[in-house]
Amino acid sequence: MKIMVSACLAGENCKYNGGNNRNKKVEALFDGNEIIPVCPEVMGGLPTPRAPSEIVHGIVINKEGFSVDREYRQGAEMVLKIAELERPDLIILQSRSPSCGVKQRYDGTFTGTLIDGSGITAELLIEHGFPVVDVEDL
Ligand code: SF4
Repeated sequence: MKIMVSACLAGENCKYNGGNNRNKKVEALFDGNEIIPVCPEVMGGLPTPRAPSEIVHGIVINKEGFSVDREYRQGAEMVLKIAELERPDLIILQSRSPSCGVKQRYDGTFTGTLIDGSGITAELLIEHGFPVVDVEDL
């Protein structure tokens, strides 16, 4: 099977704080499957580490108050292009991220409050009909 995953789940240190979200269930899929790691925030041109961001009234803003919307959307488009080329059987994304979150994301107040909804990349992939799952649903 061809599986696209959030790169931080595969152990890449691409998370906003310079760490990763290494996940044992994802690692268990490394054997016998083709894994395609992607990090839309890095692909969109953002550095690591970087300020955390949330979606505020439809625009991605970082905690310092600067818009990073263009970078988030550019990264999402790049991930979509890879998905269209590679046609993965499954896409597993990190929970709650403003890019990768599938079911929930933070509400834009930087208070740790969650709301229903997807991140920018997850939403684009879902809109285009790709089989996207939240890592917590593995
Ligand atoms: S954008 Fe996605 S892959 Fe990159 S660090 Fe955030 S959750 Fe992980």
